[in-house]
Amino acid sequence: MPADRETTVIRAVREAAKAGQRVRVVGAAHSHSPLVPTEGVLLDLADFTGIVGVDRESGVARIRPGTRIADLGPPLRAEGAALLNQGDIDRQAIAGAIATGTHGTGTTLRNLSSGLIGARIVLSDGSVAECAADREPELFEAARLNLGGLGVLTELSLAVRPAYRLQEKIWLEQVDAVLERIDSLTGATRHFEFFWMPGSDRAACKSLAETDADPVYPLAEEGKRLAWSDEVLANHRPDKHSEMEYSVPREEGPACFRALREMLHRDFPDLAWPLEYRTLAADETWLSTAYQRETVTLSVHQGIDQPDGPLFRACETIFRAHAGRPHWGKVHFCTGDELARLHPRWKDWWRVRDTWDPDRRFLNPHLERLRPAPA
Ligand SMILES: Cc1cc2nc3c(=O)[nH]c(=O)nc-3n(C[C@H](O)[C@H](O)[C@H](O)COP(=O)(O)OP(=O)(O)OC[C@H]3O[C@@H](n4cnc5c(N)ncnc54)[C@H](O)[C@@H]3O)c2cc1C
Repeated sequence: MPADRETTVIRAVREAAKAGQRVRVVGAAHSHSPLVPTEGVLLDLADFTGIVGVDRESGVARIRPGTRIADLGPPLRAEGAALLNQGDIDRQAIAGAIATGTHGTGTTLRNLSSGLIGARIVLSDGSVAECAADREPELFEAARLNLGGLGVLTELSLAVRPAYRLQEKIWLEQVDAVLERIDSLTGATRHFEFFWMPGSDRAACKSLAETDADPVYPLAEEGKRLAWSDEVLANHRPDKHSEMEYSVPREEGPACFRALREMLHRDFPDLAWPLEYRTLAADETWLSTAYQRETVTLSVHQGIDQPDGPLFRACETIFRAHAGRPHWGKVHFCTGDELARLHPRWKDWWRVRDTWDPDRRFLNPHLERLRPAPA
């Protein structure tokens, strides 16, 4: 990584501005929604990686944007620290994951964006802003979950916690029994989720409990791992798929699941991909799908070579009937005005975005389509 990598970003943004071109950044290109494509300049920060420093006392790690989540675990652990939570996989660039509200599961845990406590951003005129809750607070709120639409994040300050170990457990159980005691299951361990395969009456339940036991190496197979958090939270997901995920209020979770199950059995009996049920704590991040409400996330998958439009549209109708908010990095068909009804701070986000990027340098066609109509 060249020491002056941020300077090269600044230069690229200035040159794009001079040429009247748009700018987008790509992380690991793992989003299912078209957030990255642009006809302008596409910046790849895959060589802008590493940890700048960890302050254990305040619990903050300063991280360069292109760092893959997988590459954060060992060096953070060497400092006695760990991310607060992670998603199903750890292939994403940290700035890409933050930009879309990537999350894991846990009723007391929030998404990665809510762990952002400060950032350096290259803005549309090539200047650099530093933001945090007490410094350019509106820019900071908009940057926490930014959809790549504010500028180029060149450094992220993330909340971390002391390193911790997890014991993984997977078991099969009747899915209706799981739904009956979902609150006790989700409350019993730091992480809980279940997968349900259409056509089955059972769920594969997975819990991860914090433990003081020594890690066991070589790592056991998925479902039986006992090791440091970053070694247990990440999974191998080799099969290419498309995905829709919505967040519904926690109390709507079981009813929404049952409605999806009924519809899938009736209309898509051949679907061979699982439905995933996870939980999240409420947060205050403007565009978070868990903004000010305890949340259940439900994900529907389809093979990459299978038609997914009718399936996802049918699922979306059900999600919307349960006050669902779409995952920003996954498939959805919402318009800007619909998003404004689902997200109390959607118009605020656009106001702040437009203030800091009046030339729309950091928008792409997908984001332009999501702009709410003027009041
Ligand atoms: C197999 C698989 C598993 C997944 N599992 C989960 C999961 O468990 N939980 C979950 O919530 N999501 C999950 N996702 C979705 C994924 O986490 C998000 O789509 C995430 O944004 C992808 O990160 P990325 O690095 O690939 O970003 P990209 O898809 O490359 O980009 C996402 C956004 O980030 C912006 N961006 C990237 N870098 C910067 C930067 N430096 N400055 C400004 N903007 C930037 C881009 O412009 C774009 O808008 C999964 C996706 C896949 C394919």
